[in-house]
Amino acid sequence: MPEQVLDLVVRYRKGQTYGVHALLAALEVEPPSVPYELHLARSVEELTDVVRAGVAAGRRVLTVWSFYSPDFPPAAAELAQVCAAVPEGPDGGVVHVAGGVHATAEPLVTLRSGWDVVAVGEGERTFVTLVEAVATGAEHRGLAGTAHLDRADDPAGRLVKGPAAQRRPLDHYPAFPHTRNLTSPIEITRGCVYACKFCQTPFMFSARFRHRSVGSVRESVRVMRGRALRDVRFVTPTSLSYGSDGEEPDLGAVEELLAACREEIGPGGRVFFGSFPSELRPEHVSVEALRMLKKHVHNRDVIVGAQSGSDDVLALSGRGHGAAVVEDAVRLCVQEGFRPNVDVIFGMPGEGGPQALETVALMDRLTALGARIHAHTFMPLPGTPWRNEPPGRLDAPTRRALATLTTRGGVYGSWEKQEGIAAEMAGARSADAGHRQGRPRRLREGG
Ligand code: SF4
Repeated sequence: MPEQVLDLVVRYRKGQTYGVHALLAALEVEPPSVPYELHLARSVEELTDVVRAGVAAGRRVLTVWSFYSPDFPPAAAELAQVCAAVPEGPDGGVVHVAGGVHATAEPLVTLRSGWDVVAVGEGERTFVTLVEAVATGAEHRGLAGTAHLDRADDPAGRLVKGPAAQRRPLDHYPAFPHTRNLTSPIEITRGCVYACKFCQTPFMFSARFRHRSVGSVRESVRVMRGRALRDVRFVTPTSLSYGSDGEEPDLGAVEELLAACREEIGPGGRVFFGSFPSELRPEHVSVEALRMLKKHVHNRDVIVGAQSGSDDVLALSGRGHGAAVVEDAVRLCVQEGFRPNVDVIFGMPGEGGPQALETVALMDRLTALGARIHAHTFMPLPGTPWRNEPPGRLDAPTRRALATLTTRGGVYGSWEKQEGIAAEMAGARSADAGHRQGRPRRLREGG
């Protein structure tokens, strides 16, 4: 039995497992050349214990973190807790890496919060090479797809970026690990040709679609069936864009995918499409599309992205559609036997009182047609064109309208919580800007 030389410790949080599963799937395809043991730490205490044990045994330790922007402060607090409890491994044997959209958009801030290295951009290939480097004791700084500080222990250090992350076709790695009992919705499309200014997807994964082949999806569905799982779900920026290069849906490609999944999951299985965790763009909703979906999918709830009832706000956000098409989409969904759940975002740039009222009026019309509203508050997310915009706020009439709709069961969502998070993010941004202004001039971003 070969000696284990690496503890690979993943901070494993509910609701943030898809990205981690994708990384572990990549490791299954391209495993490191030396033995390792995977630990999924469901709490910071568990993670700390594993790190401490690894250090005590003289093993190398790589901790892996991935978080969205709103979860960055708690993740940084957890890392500080780990570092305080286990200050230093022998010969620098503990490496903490952060990846995901926030680390990609804010590598310097992330590194200054204590991570040794960040994975910038698409993570699979970067992760594989990083695990190999740490496991073998090779230099892990400067690898493709990573960034680090030039003075490792100096939080005022300068950002150094390695070459751009290597991208593989989606089929190169499975959607989730096939040899470990970890399952996620199947990512069928990555990247997005649309450029909504509030969204992190295009900058994170490029502004074009890359699709997983039907054959690759089939393999994952077969694995799911082998695990006695029944429900097949998908991750995609826009469901009906599967197989398409541009803005026009390719319904033939979608139908081929869905039929294959139905066949592969078998008679006891169910296929969900256009519902959580993905959605339909409103202009893609047509009678033809809905009838095709009805033939193949088990969900009757679908999610439609509206975002605003104001054409002006929609135009400013770069959504690529107006408000009227949302109403058309909802009417068609109801007519064809689907219940639409419509995403709206309050407080986007360009939204004043009149624009918010237009959205409230749209919500009223949509709920009267049979839709439910999934309400959000605008958050200025790092990496997006709107990262420096003020945080979204709900005005009094909007709050009253949401309260009324809530009592009727016509609205759901975390808009109140997001309003608080957005304000915190903007506060942290201001603090960071002040910090940067106060820095010596030689300390600048860029590799
Ligand atoms: S909101 Fe949806 S359609 Fe717009 S850029 Fe993001 S993923 Fe693409």
